[in-house]
Amino acid sequence: MASNILTPEARQENVKALALAAGITPEQAAERLDGRVLCTFNREDAAACQFYEELRPVLGRTIDVHDTPDGRRYLVEMVIGEVEPRGGAATVFVGLGPDSCCFSSVPAGVYSSKPVHGALSVVAACYGAAVAVHRAVGEGIPNPPPEHLEIRYDEILPDLSVLSEAVDMGGAYLAGAGAIGNGFLWAARHVDLRGELRVCDDDIVSSGNLQRQVWFEGDDIDAPKASTLCQKAQPHIPGCRLKPEPIRLQDLPIRTGAWLKRLIVAVDSRRARRELQNELPAEVFDASTTDIREVVIHYNNAVSDLACMGCLYKADEKEASQDQIIGEHLGVSVDEVKSSRISPAAAVAIARKHPHLDPDTIQGEAFDSLYKTLCATGKLHASVGKQVVAPFAFVSVLAGTLLLFEVMSRLARPGSVQSNEWHLSPWREPFSQGRMTRLRFSACECCGDSARARALRGLRSKLWAS
Ligand SMILES: [Zn+2]
Repeated sequence: MASNILTPEARQENVKALALAAGITPEQAAERLDGRVLCTFNREDAAACQFYEELRPVLGRTIDVHDTPDGRRYLVEMVIGEVEPRGGAATVFVGLGPDSCCFSSVPAGVYSSKPVHGALSVVAACYGAAVAVHRAVGEGIPNPPPEHLEIRYDEILPDLSVLSEAVDMGGAYLAGAGAIGNGFLWAARHVDLRGELRVCDDDIVSSGNLQRQVWFEGDDIDAPKASTLCQKAQPHIPGCRLKPEPIRLQDLPIRTGAWLKRLIVAVDSRRARRELQNELPAEVFDASTTDIREVVIHYNNAVSDLACMGCLYKADEKEASQDQIIGEHLGVSVDEVKSSRISPAAAVAIARKHPHLDPDTIQGEAFDSLYKTLCATGKLHASVGKQVVAPFAFVSVLAGTLLLFEVMSRLARPGSVQSNEWHLSPWREPFSQGRMTRLRFSACECCGDSARARALRGLRSKLWAS
């Protein structure tokens, strides 16, 4: 992939993620990630070309990908379809069929050169990237892909026919134009989404973000995420009007009345999810990642008695200790960290402890983003908690894609999805126990039994009915 994607900062994010996941030193991780992956396929094979076109931009954000050998060594050769391996590297045989894709160390069964639905090829590419990353650099990663990984598309999306229909979102909001928000609109290139989507994010594109935010390139560094994402994705999603809001959804000026009917959540912290739930959305679609290990999809609405984001992402000890670590390293109080964004006073305090930082530049930035950046650039030698480690690109793109499928399924087939929470590993087949129904948590700060929570629930139900 072009060097304006895998910048030194983007590579550093991958090094950190791999080092922590595989239990190796950053030096060892950097050495592994210096390798390359070769893809071998027949240019006349439409399914193989489709798969490669989706694999390259996703896998290429983790490790260099080539489709023509240059005589130097490759760590892994992905052999897509019915072609002979060139040899000289560990081989992953990619099988593509109408109902599933599979990745195996031996030639993999049935193959069809007929392309599948474009959105399913994004799914295949994400799992293909997982297997390639594991075989190339992932020794030591817990719960790795099996020798033969088969992903059935109907286990990812039970009613595949929704992908071929126009789905109208009405007036919806997307909170977060980062990795998962990028993934959502990346997969949406292949479907017929209608309506209007307001994309809210107050952050700007950083060099490290290129490691996983699939629409962004080197030229976008320092540009606002919301407008950059809308501008890039809009031509590919002509039926849905994308409107950028360079502000956090919780800070939008017009937040009165029945304003937030449909909220799609792609933010990167537990606390932000609770804040968003307290904005009383009538309906919530949410996707999150737990570093590289897990993708979680969640749904709630005002009339069900099931869990909300406050129940699912309640403040826990890990979050409290993370706040403390961030506060100590940046030189501010825990209460300040809890306010999420760096105030003018906090910016001055941080710059006092870290003189290379300019208070005007960091003001308004999220505490955990700044902390992540400082860790990634080696300015902080902290024992980094797992919560602040970025996932690999394929994990975020998969999460965004599944979020899109959730929105389309719920809107096109109301009542068809019973569970409200789905956990799956981006490295393995989905398993049926991963789909669950989580009930309300009685002490939830958003929907629990306290008088305030009850009043909020009442308001939210009215909004749903309006
Ligand atoms: Zn709740």
